[in-house]
Amino acid sequence: MTGTGPRIQDIIDTTRPHPARVYDWFLGGKDNYPVDEELGRQIAAIDAGAPKAARANRAFMHRTTRALAAEQGIRQFLDIGTGIPTEPNLHQVAQSVAPDARVVYVDNDPIVLAHAGALLRGTPEGVTEYVQADARDPRSILEQAARVLDLDRPVALSLIALLHFVADEDGAHDLVDTLVGALAPGSCLVLSMMTADFEPENVRKGIAAYAAGGVTLVARSHAEVGTFFEGLRLLEPGIVSVAQWRSEDTPDMPISLYGGVALKP
Ligand code: SAH
Repeated sequence: MTGTGPRIQDIIDTTRPHPARVYDWFLGGKDNYPVDEELGRQIAAIDAGAPKAARANRAFMHRTTRALAAEQGIRQFLDIGTGIPTEPNLHQVAQSVAPDARVVYVDNDPIVLAHAGALLRGTPEGVTEYVQADARDPRSILEQAARVLDLDRPVALSLIALLHFVADEDGAHDLVDTLVGALAPGSCLVLSMMTADFEPENVRKGIAAYAAGGVTLVARSHAEVGTFFEGLRLLEPGIVSVAQWRSEDTPDMPISLYGGVALKP
């Protein structure tokens, strides 16, 4: 039957670049469009490390998820700003440690919803769910997540490579405070976000290229990233470049993303 349901070209805006799809292009994925590739190429020309930063960020997600499942015994995960599926996805890492892990994914880009099927293939013992929502509406996210997660028990909340898309004026702190405030003691917060601390000039040019493509990005200093963790206990090694978070590998260039993991006492 034809004519039922929205067509993909009506949902996906291919006339301007979208962060999830540019990131997918950096990762060598196939779920991006010429406008995304064009911006990706411009950014890579300014900052040759951009695709490496995307991969280093993904590896940070793998290591933090494994650490939280294996060392902190976390069995529930709320991942906001999930992105287009890229294997291994967070639920695959978590469920490889703990097959009964329950995972709720959230993103506001329809392209992620269009590909969410790949995010929902988890273990039979565990649960994986996808919610289309905006991080700037944390109460709605909590309400929907509570259908799958028991918020009276610890949850790992991950906002990985998300907060540089949310300026302070847009409520970056409010959303983190609201989400963390709703979680039980023993919960964890995982953050990574862009910084201009290591390569100010390249990052400034990169932000300008994104802005020309209609995407607003914000870079934060080490101290600014630290403010998101106020009231929480940072796990070792604290806030460092994502490439350095419990990693043996030394990248051959600076990775302009800070990452950190903290425990809610
Ligand atoms: N967390 C993944 C993907 C990062 S790309 C990873 O680190 O590999 C950033 C993602 O955040 C994109 O998928 C984008 O669509 C999503 N995003 C940006 N702003 C958002 C918002 N306000 N609400 C929900 N998702 C958002």
